[in-house]
Amino acid sequence: MSGATWVSLTEQTAKIAALRATAALLEWDQQVMMPTGGGDARSGQIALLAGLVHEHMVAPALSATLAELATQPLPADQAAAVRNLQRDVARAIRVPAALVSELARAQADGFQAWLDAKQSNDFASFAPKLSHLFALKRQEASAIDPTRHPYDVLLEAFDPGTTLATLRPLFARLEEGLRPLIDAVRGLPAPAEVSGTFDLTAQKALHEQVMVALGFDTHRGRLDFSEHPFSTAIANGDTRITTHLYADDLLAGLSGTMHEAGHGMYEQGLPKALAGTTLDDAASYGLHESQSRFWENFIGRSLPFFRWLAPRIKAHIGADVAPEAMFAAANPVEPTLIRIFADEATYNLHILVRFRLEVALLEGSLAVEDLPAAWNEAYATTLGIRPATDREGCLQDVHWGSGAIGYFPSYTLGNLYAASLAAALQSELPDLWGQVERGEFAPILAWLRDRVHRHGHSAEAPDIVRAAVGDRDGVTDLLDHLWSRHGKLYGVSRS
Ligand SMILES: [Zn+2]
Repeated sequence: MSGATWVSLTEQTAKIAALRATAALLEWDQQVMMPTGGGDARSGQIALLAGLVHEHMVAPALSATLAELATQPLPADQAAAVRNLQRDVARAIRVPAALVSELARAQADGFQAWLDAKQSNDFASFAPKLSHLFALKRQEASAIDPTRHPYDVLLEAFDPGTTLATLRPLFARLEEGLRPLIDAVRGLPAPAEVSGTFDLTAQKALHEQVMVALGFDTHRGRLDFSEHPFSTAIANGDTRITTHLYADDLLAGLSGTMHEAGHGMYEQGLPKALAGTTLDDAASYGLHESQSRFWENFIGRSLPFFRWLAPRIKAHIGADVAPEAMFAAANPVEPTLIRIFADEATYNLHILVRFRLEVALLEGSLAVEDLPAAWNEAYATTLGIRPATDREGCLQDVHWGSGAIGYFPSYTLGNLYAASLAAALQSELPDLWGQVERGEFAPILAWLRDRVHRHGHSAEAPDIVRAAVGDRDGVTDLLDHLWSRHGKLYGVSRS
């Protein structure tokens, strides 16, 4: 009887979900609270939990339950859960337990080594750890499926359905489409920055007000601080987001908070009745990123948003900042070195560089020792600027040191999904920008909840987006948006 088998499945997956939640909490703690002295012990703790998750995933009982359910007529959402779990289980069964633990340890060690290397601008100290990580990821990909390109196998863990074959032309189209905009504004005066010194305590209060106004539920989530902003879900009612405040940069910190709040609100909108079944998971990292980018860029860098924000800055911080000045400062088009501070127009070129380099590192056509030189060369060629130090070059991001290889394309997929969601939303909510200016964000969040969040992982991300927006092209939507916003700001138009 399928009802009893389904219940048995949810009992098994609930244990796996609890182990994953515990690991996520330890990882959150490592980045937010833990003194650096705890690093060695923490690596072992996280490796132990990863091993336990692996044991449960490869247990014959789980495979048997899934096989039984797969032969039965099931409601659509249960059938989707079985499909998701069978794919995850297949990936887990093929990777030996010893490699799983070694990877977890190498990732925790890699994170600590990256943190130290970035602080001391010392790539050489990090290189052996990174080299070891790439070797382990190659082994992992080969164990899962030796017949496919290792990059496709790793990418599937983040964005199933996307491959090298779809990404390469997509990045090529973006590179080609972005160049005329970047060329058109080159040499034009850059918008003035919003300069000053902004009290950190007052900034924190402002960030909390913005986050709550957008719809982030603080009874089911919290905001903390870390070196590199991130978000994680411990459980359906416990979503953690972090941000980083800058005394001399009001907008950089705020865009980080809006980004992570976007991630957090997606987690808070996932179907909690289906907890632990994978149906309550995000459909993909790219779709997750679309939610953060939507709020950070489409809403958070718009003039109506700054009109709403200005009096709140005055109230919290005491600073008079004109909305138009913030809008201009938040929307430069200017090649820069640091990805997380990149403008909307050049951002995807930062991802393009990382995508091409990580493919080369994984294939072995680029040696880890040669990464700094290759990185600097790629920035010179693609963005026309060259980092002076590795700290502002290949050491800037946490991802590779944490073993997240194949993750970067999710950012660009997110930007493209977000562009299409925003275009569809604008046509369906005619007073969208009036609502933003009045701080009425609820209808926007409700639309995202309906079109994206509530579907969880009941379908793959491209299908969820297609159902949400119809047949739109993300590259076209993003380029239209960029020309419309930045073209107007700089007084240039598409030829
Ligand atoms: Zn993000």
